[in-house]
Amino acid sequence: MAWVITRLCADCQDTACVKVCPVDCIYGLNVDDVNFRKQLFIDPEECINCAACEPECPWGAIFEDVAVPDLFKEDIGINARVFAAHPRDEFTTTPVPIKSHPSPEEIKANYEKWGFKNS
Ligand code: SF4
Ligand code: SF4
Repeated sequence: MAWVITRLCADCQDTACVKVCPVDCIYGLNVDDVNFRKQLFIDPEECINCAACEPECPWGAIFEDVAVPDLFKEDIGINARVFAAHPRDEFTTTPVPIKSHPSPEEIKANYEKWGFKNS
């Protein structure tokens, strides 16, 4: 069991989740890789399933693995694959925020961008 950051984080990356994770298992990739979006990832091997991150995410991007919407199921594997694809020194636990404090309109627009209906 682990929590998963979905593509709703892509290009948003508020980083509020990083600040509350008790085991520092939320990472940004410090190198460019066309196979992975610009977002944060949770290492499923390190996540202790505490659920502290989910309510902190203003973009609604974090889900428990068993509750990831069908639309974003692929992101479960992506969160695992990124850590297999890159050595640990290519990640950071202090990523720079991209878009913090989104308005309700921005959150809605991000859902629509990915075809997600949050109801
Ligand atoms: S709080 Fe949400 S949007 Fe921000 S970095 Fe974490 S998962 Fe991404
Ligand atoms: S569920 Fe807890 S341990 Fe896992 S990523 Fe979120 S805050 Fe970190």
